Amino acid sequence: MTLHSPLTDLPGIGPAVAEKLNKRHIYRVGDFLFLLPYKYQDRTAITPIADLIYGEFAQVLVTVQSARVQYGRQRSLVIECRDNSGLLTVRLFHFSKAQMRLFQPDKRLLVYGQAVEGQGRWAMLHPETKVLKTDETVQLSDKLTPVYPSTLGVGSVKISRWAGIALACLAKEDLHDFPDDFLQQHRLSPLKDALKAIHQPQVGQRESDILNPENPHLKRVVLDELLAKQIGMLRKKAQAKQVSAFALRIDDGLQSRLLQQLPFTLTRAQQRVISEIFTDLTQSRPMHRLVQGDVGSGKTLVAFSAVLQAVANGLQAVVMAPTEILSEQHHQQALKLLATLSVKTVWLSGKITAKKRRELLAQIADGSAQVIIGTHALFQDDVVYRRLGLAVIDEQHRFGVHQRLLLKEKAENSGQTPHMLVMTATPIPRTLAMSYYADLDTSVIDALPPDRQPIVTVLLADNRRAELIKRIKALVATGQQVYWVCPLIEESDLLQAQAAEDIHARLAESLPTLNVGLLHGRQKSDEKAQIIADFQANKIHLLVSTTVIEVGVDVPNATLMVIENAERFGLAQLHQLRGRVGRGSEKSFCVLLFQQPLSQTARQRLQVIRNSQDGFEIAKEDLKIRGAGEILGTKQTGEMSLRIADLHRDSDLVEMAFTLAQQLMTQYPEMADELIVRWVGHAEEYLDV
Ligand code: ADP
Ligand code: MG
Repeated sequence: MTLHSPLTDLPGIGPAVAEKLNKRHIYRVGDFLFLLPYKYQDRTAITPIADLIYGEFAQVLVTVQSARVQYGRQRSLVIECRDNSGLLTVRLFHFSKAQMRLFQPDKRLLVYGQAVEGQGRWAMLHPETKVLKTDETVQLSDKLTPVYPSTLGVGSVKISRWAGIALACLAKEDLHDFPDDFLQQHRLSPLKDALKAIHQPQVGQRESDILNPENPHLKRVVLDELLAKQIGMLRKKAQAKQVSAFALRIDDGLQSRLLQQLPFTLTRAQQRVISEIFTDLTQSRPMHRLVQGDVGSGKTLVAFSAVLQAVANGLQAVVMAPTEILSEQHHQQALKLLATLSVKTVWLSGKITAKKRRELLAQIADGSAQVIIGTHALFQDDVVYRRLGLAVIDEQHRFGVHQRLLLKEKAENSGQTPHMLVMTATPIPRTLAMSYYADLDTSVIDALPPDRQPIVTVLLADNRRAELIKRIKALVATGQQVYWVCPLIEESDLLQAQAAEDIHARLAESLPTLNVGLLHGRQKSDEKAQIIADFQANKIHLLVSTTVIEVGVDVPNATLMVIENAERFGLAQLHQLRGRVGRGSEKSFCVLLFQQPLSQTARQRLQVIRNSQDGFEIAKEDLKIRGAGEILGTKQTGEMSLRIADLHRDSDLVEMAFTLAQQLMTQYPEMADELIVRWVGHAEEYLDV
C-alpha cells in the first residue's frame, strides 16, 4: 500500500463507500492525511464531578440514582447520577425503551459530554453514555481521540483508522516540503511531522495546544491549503489571460468632456483607478479587474469612464446591476452623463412590454444600442450583442464562474473576449481579497469625496420609540427628512412588505402632521419611482422603506435614518443602508433600534457599526464574527470554501501564501502540482475555467 493506492485497497472500503469519500475530495489513501480532525475527545482521564468546568467536555464515572422520562417541549430521559464528589444530571433526548431499562439504580455509568449547569447542579445534555457491566474496568486511552467530520455517513472511528494507515505509508514515502531553514524561520513544522501530530496527538497534548493558531504543526498544514488555493487562483488567472480581447485606443479628449459635465472634480483615488483601468483596456488580453470602493466613493463615474472608451472604440458595453432599482439609477445617470456625448444608452428592464423589448433587442443586435444597462437579464438567451467589448458588473457579491462563461459566450460572434470590470461596495478585507479574488486584478478607491459629513450612530432599545418619534417631529420641523428602515425578513418578500405596511400605518398615526411615505419591493416600478421622486422633492417627510433603498437612492436632505431590528441585519448591509444619509451639508444621524434582550454577538456587531464608519474596518470585523462565506454570499453554495484555514485567524499565513505561491509555481512546479491535487482533488477543476 502507498499513498497513491486506490481507496478500495483499504479495509472496509468498497465501491459504495469510495464513492461517498470521493465527494469529499478523497480519492486515494494519501488524501486521508488532509482530512483533519476538527476536535478531540479527552478520554485519558476520569474527571470528578466537582472538577467539571462549565462548557468543557469531560469523561465522568458515575452511579445511577434514578431515571425517569420527562415530558415537556421535547420528551427527555433524565438520569440522576453521582460520584463521590457531586451530583450530575444526564439528559437524553433520543432513546429507546430498551435503553431506558439499562439505566437502573446503582449501575455504573461512563459518561462523556459537555458540562453545563442545570437547575443548580451539573448536567450533560445528550452525552455519550456507556453502562458498565458489574466488574468491568474502565479502559482509559493514553492519548486524545481525534474526531473527524463525519463524511456522508462514514463515521469518525473508521476515518481515524484509515488515516492511521495513511500515516504509516507516509512514514515510508517522500513529500515535497519546504527547506528546513525556511520552516524554522517561520515556525512551521515539516509537513510529515505536522500531519502525524494532528492525526495522532502525542501523550499529554491537549486540544487547546493542537488547535492553537500558533501551533507549528497546524500552521504548516494551514499554509499548505492556503498555498493550494492561491496557486489555483493564479493558474486560473493565467488561463483567463490566454484569450484575446480588443485592445482599445484611449480617447483622452472624450474623457475630459465627460468630466467637464460634472460639478466637482474627481478624487485622486478615482483618477488613479481610472488610469489603472485604461491601462488594462489598451491590452489585447481581457481585463479582469475588481474595483473596491466604499459606499459613496464614486464608483459609477469610474465605470462610465471605461464604458465611454469602449463605445469610442466602436464596441458595446453592458452595465449589470444587482437590482432593478439600481439598474434604473444607473440608466438615469447614463442618460445624464453619456447621452450628452451622443452615446445611445438603453435600459433592458424586466418590466418593459414585449414589443418594447423586441425593439431593444433589435438595437442591441444591430449595434445601434451602444450601452446596455440591466440586471442578470442582460445574459438571457435572446439577448444577442453585435460587438460586446466591456462588461461592468456592479454588485456586492462575487461574480461567479458560471456568469463569466456566459459573458464569454455573449461575445463569441466577435471572436474576442470582453473586458470585465467588477465593482463591489462591500469592502473586502485584504486577506479575503487575497484568497478569493487573487484571479482578479484589484483597484481600491480608498478615499471618499472631500465634502462628506461623518454620521453619528446611536443604539437605541426599541422601548424608547416614543422619544425617537418626538425627535423626528422636531427634525422635520427644520425641513430635514427621515428614512425608516423596516426589519429584515429574508424569507419572504410578502411578509416584508406587510411588515412595512404595518409600520407605516403606526408611524402615520403617531405623526399625523407629517407626510409619511411607504416604499417596498412589491410595489409597481412606476409607483416606486413616483415615491422616490416625491421624497426627493421633500413632499414626503418620512419614508418608511424595506431594504430596497439600500442602493441607488440619493437624497442629500435626508439626515436621519432609523433602522428597526437592526440586530437582524448583516454589518455590511447596515453600512450600506447608513450610506443613504450623510450626503448633504447638514449633520446626519443613524439610529439602530434593537429588540431586547440582545445577544452578546448581536451587541458586539452593533457596536462595530456604531464605532466605525470605515467600510474596510467593518468588513474586517464582520469577517471575524461571521466568516468569509457570509461576506461573499457564498455560504450556501459552499463555493471555494476552505477546509481548515480561517481567513481571520490565519491572516499571517494568507499573506505568506500570497507571496510564496508565485515563487513556488516557477521554481518548484512539481510541488505546486502536488498541492493542487492534494487539496482540490482534481487538477482539472482549476484548469477548465
Ligand atoms: P458608489 O461608489 O456608492 O457607487 P456613486 O458613484 O453613486 O457612489 O457616487 C455617490 C455620489 O457622489 C454621487 O452623487 C456622485 O455624483 C458623487 N460623486 C462622485 N464622485 C465625486 C467626487 N469626486 N466629488 C464629489 N462628489 C462625487
Ligand atoms: Mg454604486
